[in-house]
Amino acid sequence: MTIITRFPPSPTGFMHIGNARTALYNWLYARHHGGKFVVRIEDTDRARHSEEAVLAILNSLKWLELDWDGEIVSQFEQRDRHVEIAKELIAKGQAYYCYCTPEELTAMRAQAKEEGRSTSYDRRWRDRDPAEAPEGVPPVIRIKAPLEGETTIHDQVQGDVSVSSDNLDDFILLRSDGTPTYMLSVVVDDHDMGITHIIRGDDHLNNAFRQKIIFEAMGWDIPVYAHIPLIHGADGGKFSKRHGATGVEEYKDMGYLPEAMRNYLLRLGWAHGDDEIISTAQAVEWFDLDHVGKSAARFDFAKLDSLNAHYLNEADDDRLVDLIYDEQDEIVKQRLKSGMAELKDRAKTLKQLSDESSFYTKKIPFDFDEKAQKILDEGPMKVLTDLQDRFKALPSFTAEGVEQACRECADELREGKLGKVAMPLRAALTGTTVSPSIFHAAEILGLEECLERIAQALGKCGEKNIEQHAVSN
Ligand code: GLU
Repeated sequence: MTIITRFPPSPTGFMHIGNARTALYNWLYARHHGGKFVVRIEDTDRARHSEEAVLAILNSLKWLELDWDGEIVSQFEQRDRHVEIAKELIAKGQAYYCYCTPEELTAMRAQAKEEGRSTSYDRRWRDRDPAEAPEGVPPVIRIKAPLEGETTIHDQVQGDVSVSSDNLDDFILLRSDGTPTYMLSVVVDDHDMGITHIIRGDDHLNNAFRQKIIFEAMGWDIPVYAHIPLIHGADGGKFSKRHGATGVEEYKDMGYLPEAMRNYLLRLGWAHGDDEIISTAQAVEWFDLDHVGKSAARFDFAKLDSLNAHYLNEADDDRLVDLIYDEQDEIVKQRLKSGMAELKDRAKTLKQLSDESSFYTKKIPFDFDEKAQKILDEGPMKVLTDLQDRFKALPSFTAEGVEQACRECADELREGKLGKVAMPLRAALTGTTVSPSIFHAAEILGLEECLERIAQALGKCGEKNIEQHAVSN
C-alpha cells in the first residue's frame, strides 16, 4: 500500500507555525515510507477567498522546502462530487432530507433548553416520510448518526478515544442552498485522494468522530488518524500573537533558515532520544508516529536561535552571500565570501549576519554610527595617518601584516595598547564599533579600500586631538 498523507490548509492569508509543523509531519511520514504528500486547498469559503492567501501558504511550503506530489487540489472545485455523495448517502439510507425551517429549529432548541434536554437536532425528519415535506422549504441533508453505542478513533498519538453516540447528532452534509458542509467535503476529498494517514492538530479530534461516521456510511476505508497536540507559548496558553510571531513568513523575514525551522518544528512535538540537531535526511529516516508527544510542547525562541546558529554555521558560504546580499557587485560579493566563515560563526540569524557584514558592502562616503563617531571625536588622527604609512609600506597586505603594523603603531603612539589603535581603525574601516577581527577585515577590504576609508575617517575626526591633548598635559 502506498502511504498518502495530506496537507489541507484553509487559505487564511498566512501559514501558522502550527500548520507548518503539521505539514512537516505529514511530509516526513510520506517521505519516510516512500509515499506521497499531497496538498489540498480548503477554499470553500468563497466570501473570504483570495488567490493571494493561497499563494502565501504555498510560498511558505516552498520556503520550508516541503515539496508536494501531483497537482494541488481545490476543494471548491470538487463540490459537485460532494453533492453527489450526499445524494448517494440518501440512496443508501444513510442520510435523509430534513425540512425544518430555521424558525422551527430555533423553537425546538428553546423548548429543549426549557425542559433541560440536549439542544442538538432531535432527528424529527429521520424517519418521517418525505411526502410530508412542507411546500417551499428547501431541505438540508443530514447523516444518520448511530443512535446507540459509541464511536472510537484508534488514534496513533492519543490512543483509543471514544465518544458516546448521545453526543453525536445527525449533522448536516448538504445545506439548504445545496452547498456541502466542511465535514462532508473533507471526507469525500480524503477518500478520493486516497489519503491513508491523517496527521493534524488535536483541535480536529472532535471532527474525526463525525468524519468516521461518513466513511462508514459510505463503506470506505477509514484512514489512520494521528492528532498531535497543539503548540503552546511559554506561559502554557495556545501559541498566539502575544507569544511571538505566528506566521511562517515572519520567521523567514526574521532571518531563520528553513532547515533550522524544520529541525525546530520537528522537535516541537516529536523526539528521537536526546537528539536535538536532526538533519532533514535523518528526520526522513527516523520519523514515526510512535514518538509524537502526547502533551503540548512550548515554543522556545532560545532553542530556535541556537538551532539557527548551528545551521548558519553549516551553511554554504555562497548561499549565505546570496541570501544577505541581492546586488550584483562582484567585488562586494567576493569580500562577503572571504569574510563569511568568521561572520557566520558569530550570527544567530540571517538578519544579524546581514547587519554585521554590512560594512563590507558600504560605499564611500558612508555614515558612521554614534559610537564610531565618538571614537573619531577623540581625534585619533595621528594613529590613522601612521597606519596609512605603515600599511603602504607592507610587503603584502595580509591580516598578519596589518596586525603587526597596528602593534608597532601602538608601541610608538599608544604605550603598547593595541586596542587604542584597533578601535580607531575599526571605526574608520567599518563606520561602527563591532566587527569580526579588524585585521582580517582589513585584508579582505584590501589596501586601496582601507586607505580610502581611513582618508574618509580622517575627514570626520573631531577637533579634540588626543595627541595634542597628551602633549599639553
Ligand atoms: N482545513 C483545516 C485547517 O486548516 C484542516 C482540516 C483537516 O486537517 O482535516 O485547519
